[in-house]
Amino acid sequence: MSSVPLDQLPRTRRLDLSRIELPADHPAADLGRSVAVHGFLIEHPDGAILVDTGVGYGNTFIDELFRPSRIELAGLLAQLGIDVDAVVAVVNSHLHFDHCGQNPALFGRATTFYAQAAEIDTVEGDRFYTDASWALAPHDQRRAIHGDEQIADGITILATPGHTAGHQSVLIEAADRRIVIGAQVVWRSEELETEVASRANVDPVPELQAAAVESIRRLKSLDPEVVHLSHCPAYVPSQ
Ligand SMILES: [Zn+2]
Repeated sequence: MSSVPLDQLPRTRRLDLSRIELPADHPAADLGRSVAVHGFLIEHPDGAILVDTGVGYGNTFIDELFRPSRIELAGLLAQLGIDVDAVVAVVNSHLHFDHCGQNPALFGRATTFYAQAAEIDTVEGDRFYTDASWALAPHDQRRAIHGDEQIADGITILATPGHTAGHQSVLIEAADRRIVIGAQVVWRSEELETEVASRANVDPVPELQAAAVESIRRLKSLDPEVVHLSHCPAYVPSQ
């Protein structure tokens, strides 16, 4: 994989964008019904890069089923000193409703949205997969990725299928330091330690389970200082 190192790691912050209440029949409900939804802000020299945008507004089905609480994205960024016009990129780890909901806050701007082509195909082919009005950026802002792609100095998207066929993570590199935003590559950080893909996070389909374990091993093989996750605290590998 080619990449241009930065001098130092850009500041990467966790954004506590949403909380949702899982329905009783959700595959992860046994692990706790009230779930945090994190996004991430990378303060890159080229501009701000967001990874995931939480739950959006205006979908009554999702509001009734998941009873989300939300922090409004533009206001949260303003509190952090970031103007929405300074957001050059949004990387959606995948396009489930709780990872792309506030994408529309950046529609009609200069922001580029990165998602795996497989993920976009699923949204376009299955109207029950997500809220497409949140997930799909205008065509002129949308970049469909096939596998891995470096999108800025030291910032590389990595295909990490398992939770969904088009799930992706973000590698942030500077000199010899690396951090990873693994998003929903696992449901809980313990899965990174044990290398067991939870059925709470991955359908019990052999190909997806195998892909999920492969993705876990891939991220660990990068020897990151930390792996940030969507629905639980970050994983810090033991030395
Ligand atoms: Zn998901």
